[in-house]
Amino acid sequence: MKISLIVPCYNESEVLGEFFRRVNLLAEKLASYEFEFLFVNDGSTDSTAEILNSFADKDLRVKVLHFARNQGHQISLTAGMDFASGDYIVTIDADLQDPPEVIPEMIEKMSEGYQVIHAQRRTRAGETGFKLFTAWLFYQVMCRFLARDIVPDSGDFRAFTRQVMKVIRGFREKHRFLRGTFAVVGFKQCIVKYDRDSRFAGETKYPVKKMIKLAADAVLSFSSSPIRAITWLSLLLWSSSLIYLVKALIEKFILHETVQGWTSIIFLLTFFTGLNLFCLGIIGSYIGRIFEQGQKRPLYWLSNVRNVKRNEIDPEISDFEEVKIADCIFSEGPEK
Ligand code: UDP
Ligand code: MG
Repeated sequence: MKISLIVPCYNESEVLGEFFRRVNLLAEKLASYEFEFLFVNDGSTDSTAEILNSFADKDLRVKVLHFARNQGHQISLTAGMDFASGDYIVTIDADLQDPPEVIPEMIEKMSEGYQVIHAQRRTRAGETGFKLFTAWLFYQVMCRFLARDIVPDSGDFRAFTRQVMKVIRGFREKHRFLRGTFAVVGFKQCIVKYDRDSRFAGETKYPVKKMIKLAADAVLSFSSSPIRAITWLSLLLWSSSLIYLVKALIEKFILHETVQGWTSIIFLLTFFTGLNLFCLGIIGSYIGRIFEQGQKRPLYWLSNVRNVKRNEIDPEISDFEEVKIADCIFSEGPEK
């Protein structure tokens, strides 16, 4: 049996040495399994590429996919899944916040017959109050209203079987939120709890802008509730404007005291124009996504690979656009 570790890396030069040491220890511990370390270099601008290549040159279990530009964490994980050859697959961050020592427990669950094992954070060391609060709020909203199946307090540290990976590979949406995708595919799933460490070194690669993008992808890709909420909102407004109409009629015909009403008109005008624009914005977000998906651009493209040979790619995925792009790198030759 083979275990593939998929490791997305964006400017992680400071942590990679220690990460590789820790996963090597893990491989020694789980000696009955064959290992594959699949690093995805997500367009790093530091020395991440050189470090990963040096690992690959020394160790054939190390495979590296180099993206031509930064595509984000979720796309990096996707690329890893397109190329992973293991029977069991584990996605794990490079910064050692997800301790590799939890993996044996996850593998044990898979040998018990579970197909997707989510690692759920029991505690979270070294995170800012802001991050903890926004994460809490995000999971409250998601779990209650939008994607009820997602596992709260779990990131992208999870293990799954090859069968599940093949199903996930078929989900090709551009704006992805893999936590949601894994929640909807079904199969026998379970949770393993762990204490999340603080980052080994370096800084978070998820600034507020990327966090907002991920949250928007989660909401807009997994739910059409916002667009349907517009209808409910309009019903609410209609009923309140009806009350206002009754009041205005009484004032005009019974009390005969029509007030000038400039303030209220201005207030209502600005309020409802704002609301109209907000609703248009929600519709626009969905249309933008339809447009981007309609362009059928590849999800990612590679500039180079290490220890990945053409004939190792699963023929079932060779239909995907991005693998065709990968093909040209293989023929150009940096096959090591
Ligand atoms: N990452 C990536 N591309 C990005 C941002 C992050 O591949 O554009 C990787 C990063 O190298 C790390 C993982 O995704 O291995 C999680 O990122 P990070 O630890 O910075 O996020 P946080 O734990 O702070 O939420
Ligand atoms: Mg991290």
